[in-house]
Amino acid sequence: MNCCRFASILIVATAAALAQVPASAQTDDSRPTPPASIKSFDLTAIDKTADPCTDFYQYACGNWVKNNPIPADQVRWARSFSMLGERNRYLLWQELDAAAKDPKTPLETQYGDYFAACMNTDLVEKKGLEPLDPALKRIANLSDAHHLATLIGELASEGDPAPLFRFGVQQDEKDSSKQIAGIGQAGLSLPDRDYYIVDSKRFDAIREQYVEHVTRMFTLAGDSPELAAKEAAFVMEIETALAKASTSRTDMREPENRYHIYSVADFEKLTPDFDFAVYFKDIKVGHFDTLNVATPSFFKAVNELIASEPVDAWKSYFRWHTIHGSADSLPRAFFDENFAFFGKTLQGQKEPTPRWKQCTAATDRALGEAVGQDWVKQNFPPAAKASMDQLVAALEKSLGDDIGTLPWMSDATKKAAEEKLAMIRNKIGYPEKWRDYSALKVKRDDLIGNVHRNAVFARNYDLNKLGKPVDEKEWGMTPPTVNAYYDASMNDINFPAGILQPPFFDFTIDPAVNFGGIGVVIGHEMTHGFDDEGSKYDGKGNLREWQTPEDRKAFTERTDCEVAEYSGFEAAAAHDDAPAQHLNGKLTLGENTADNGGLRIAYLALLDTLAAEGKTINDKIDGYTEAQRYFIGFAQVWCQNQTEQSARQSALTDPHSPGRWRTNGAVQNFDEFGKAFGCTKGQPMYPVNSCRVW
Ligand SMILES: [Zn+2]
Repeated sequence: MNCCRFASILIVATAAALAQVPASAQTDDSRPTPPASIKSFDLTAIDKTADPCTDFYQYACGNWVKNNPIPADQVRWARSFSMLGERNRYLLWQELDAAAKDPKTPLETQYGDYFAACMNTDLVEKKGLEPLDPALKRIANLSDAHHLATLIGELASEGDPAPLFRFGVQQDEKDSSKQIAGIGQAGLSLPDRDYYIVDSKRFDAIREQYVEHVTRMFTLAGDSPELAAKEAAFVMEIETALAKASTSRTDMREPENRYHIYSVADFEKLTPDFDFAVYFKDIKVGHFDTLNVATPSFFKAVNELIASEPVDAWKSYFRWHTIHGSADSLPRAFFDENFAFFGKTLQGQKEPTPRWKQCTAATDRALGEAVGQDWVKQNFPPAAKASMDQLVAALEKSLGDDIGTLPWMSDATKKAAEEKLAMIRNKIGYPEKWRDYSALKVKRDDLIGNVHRNAVFARNYDLNKLGKPVDEKEWGMTPPTVNAYYDASMNDINFPAGILQPPFFDFTIDPAVNFGGIGVVIGHEMTHGFDDEGSKYDGKGNLREWQTPEDRKAFTERTDCEVAEYSGFEAAAAHDDAPAQHLNGKLTLGENTADNGGLRIAYLALLDTLAAEGKTINDKIDGYTEAQRYFIGFAQVWCQNQTEQSARQSALTDPHSPGRWRTNGAVQNFDEFGKAFGCTKGQPMYPVNSCRVW
């Protein structure tokens, strides 16, 4: 696991939600039904009563939004990401279910057993809290807060949740050829620091409900109600202090804010009350003299907390994280209580995720490149990779053309941008070399043991990179994932096989729809190399300015335009209990820039492709011109419904704008849209003044 690598992903994957919202422990819902196929271009989704020049999202998605309520086990339901995610998960489940029943290879035995252990809820009930006993005993024996390093080191070495901070290996931001140690802030249970520190009626209520939830979890673990209440108060006290010491998500987007190289000796001086030497020894990391301390002020605050908080407070904090961190692998009573707060209250999810979905996702997370090997054989034909290579080449050419014609950029900076573009590496489908899982022991009757051994395996894999050359062929997503990412230190774009399918990518449909789907996705990832964050790295992945000061100033004026534009968009409307929630234009700036750039360069690539085929952008299919089909295809990627709770949470934590604004924000900045739909200059989707970066 990379503790601090910067990667811009296309959308926050459902895996994150699944990790936080465990599945039902019921066994009666564990047989899935095959999901419906997804149309790449859906005429029935269109709301013809809406004016595309006023609200294009409503036009392209209105009927879909009306007719596709959020399933009870989801908090966000998107026409592309969620539906394709469901399909991929179902196909993966078929493979896991077959491997669990009748494995044909050692690898199938390994992932079949992992899945089977997760599905065995009877055994989970029978074992109760017993699998956590060793960790809970260690915590109970803590006699002095100055021994915290020993405790965390021992917990981590056993694979138990070890909160408070994240430690791992990362590429050096200023010399990407080096893999160095890095440490960063962590240790909260609620979704963001704002949940602890913002003073509002809504957050007051959430905090109160959180403390009640923590109290109930402690009583389920056998503590008296009085003790449980005291412990929950300690948990809230420590997490609130950590939240106050944490740097905000928005500030963390600035690379210089998370880059502070310390000698080990100086770092130890920063935290004299936490014996990091003991911790490093316990987790068996190799020798290093310097490390990146992402947020030094956080560690200074942790050190002060060690001195000021009583040992009982720390014991409560670690006891909580041990139970909470395993809640999805514990008996039904824990599972239900965890879902009631983290699923229902926080996110508005009506029903728990079915067990089969949770176990499929968990197996994919743990053994992704084992299950992925068989999955791609079934689901990713060589022809798909060849088509993607062509599409990526077409988009690279368009971005190059676009850079060449930018009116505000000097020739020197254009040259530097083109050099960076030429150095972007493309990874498509799945890894050339699969990860070796032979050192991971999986037992069919030991769910929590498997989770712990996997945590140790993953950490060892990560720590083993220290001081070694960077593996450019490594992937940060598993093959069935419906997502894509750009990695600034690697300067590469990555498209897992999972996203290279309808509705993003369809062999049977006209190029306009494919360019509006996967074409914009490719353009989006490429543009990340040039957004407010990615543009601070050069072609080698090093944090180094390559724009002239004048160009950087002009660039920032343009990104400021997008910050103001998107900050004006509303994620949730005001009502009696909460004020309106606007988007954070600074948090979402990189993604919005990537959306805008992707929409423009995929359109340019479509023009080239049509010209090569002797067609024009005004040719019609099913009553829509190629240009209109391109924009509708793009918008229909983003049709979605989301619970209000989840929409409010996303606005604070998700660097991506919601579907409505990913669509309308991008089209209103691109004049070709207004022309395609015959809009009048000055209408909302064809404004007189708009923003443009790339
Ligand atoms: Zn992105």
